[in-house]
Amino acid sequence: VESLCQNDPNETALSQRQLDAFWMPFTSNRDFKQQPRVIVGAKGHFYKSADGRQVYDLFSGLWSSGIGHGHPKIVEAIAKQASELDYCMSFQLGNDKAFLLADRLAGLAPEGMDHVFFTNSGSEAVDTALKIALAYHQANGDFSRVGLVGRERGYHGANFGGISVGGIMPNRQLYQGNLLPRVYHIPTTYDREHQAFTDGQPQWGSHLVEELEKICRVNGSHNIAAVIVEPAAGSTGILPPPIGYLERLREICTKHGILLIFDEVITGLGRVGDSFAAQRMQVIPDIITTAKSLTNSMVPMGAAIVNKKIYQTIVDDSRSDNRNVEFFHGYTYSGHPIAAAAGLATLDIFEQEGTFETARELETLFSELLHSFDDHPKVIDVRNFGLMGAIELETRDNQLGARGLETHKRCFWEQNVVLRNSSDILQFSPFLNAKPEDLERSFSAIKKVLDTIE
Ligand code: PMP
Repeated sequence: VESLCQNDPNETALSQRQLDAFWMPFTSNRDFKQQPRVIVGAKGHFYKSADGRQVYDLFSGLWSSGIGHGHPKIVEAIAKQASELDYCMSFQLGNDKAFLLADRLAGLAPEGMDHVFFTNSGSEAVDTALKIALAYHQANGDFSRVGLVGRERGYHGANFGGISVGGIMPNRQLYQGNLLPRVYHIPTTYDREHQAFTDGQPQWGSHLVEELEKICRVNGSHNIAAVIVEPAAGSTGILPPPIGYLERLREICTKHGILLIFDEVITGLGRVGDSFAAQRMQVIPDIITTAKSLTNSMVPMGAAIVNKKIYQTIVDDSRSDNRNVEFFHGYTYSGHPIAAAAGLATLDIFEQEGTFETARELETLFSELLHSFDDHPKVIDVRNFGLMGAIELETRDNQLGARGLETHKRCFWEQNVVLRNSSDILQFSPFLNAKPEDLERSFSAIKKVLDTIE
């Protein structure tokens, strides 16, 4: 780590060739490589940049490292597992840690959601959940149920299933001809005119879910397999559901025999001050996807958690003509022992340190700090739910995202703070155990930037 450190913020020890070799995801590669922001170390709540600075991580990884970077207990669990059992396949063989983690995770999920399919990422968890939903109806003999419903501004990962049900045009536009067929979208829950500067769930907008009834009327509810939503949309800028929206969504799905999938890749395991948003909102879906926080992101891992009915129906499907395998799906690394060991250590820490309660207690301060920007001249909206927050900036000179990216860069170089910008929306995902003084310092640093940015 030390050998990579330099003093000139414009340089790293990496050559241009090395920089060019890594095609960075969801990044302006050309721009980045002119002045790369390279991280060479991390401990607790701080990154170490290649030029040797301590940079506060106000995004806790990518909504994902909630109990801090390099947690020693997880490091230890990973090292121990690597030396005891580095890998074994999960096809007709299984490692002990995967079973233990599945059981622990099921224990945190809502009552009756007792079965866990492991993946390596949120995107894979989503595609797995969609396949499970389709397989369930087939196993039930409900052969017409092949339609899927997503939502405008939904983000469900980058794979083909996820972008098909997702509702973000730039992620879909090049692939229109190859997206999944029979996918419908309900409208976003967000409307600035009625919701701007709301703290938590907006009052206005629960009626927007009625669009699902329309989709059912037009297409036949017996043709719809599942609806997938983020309980509170994250990547598209923190769009908490209007009060009553999720309750009504559950009601409509139940009425029509449609499975409800909550994509809790962000909201799962502490981010909203509870095990899952399902419990926080008291709305119980049929399938939950999760990832990020499951291992505190120290090893890639995701999961789809399903209820008993779904598991039993697929596993016991008497129509299946192959009794060796009930569900033709899985990954080389499903339930990887090192990831599972990291997951077990992470869940231990959540329990021992009361992480979800700590996160819940931080919400008031977080909301106050965010909403102190309500009157800022460059800000057009502020939104938050749990420890997810967004400050939306006014777009400068019709250059969508330019001001957002400049804020991100200036915060990194000038203020030693990492935040994320999605276009002109600044996003915040503080550590679940953040220190109040670090949050206060970071937000006043951000204010300095916003006060002086063009
Ligand atoms: N679903 C949601 C709700 C997400 O926020 C994300 C990632 N931010 C994903 C799925 C995809 O996860 P991954 O990047 O691990 O594939």
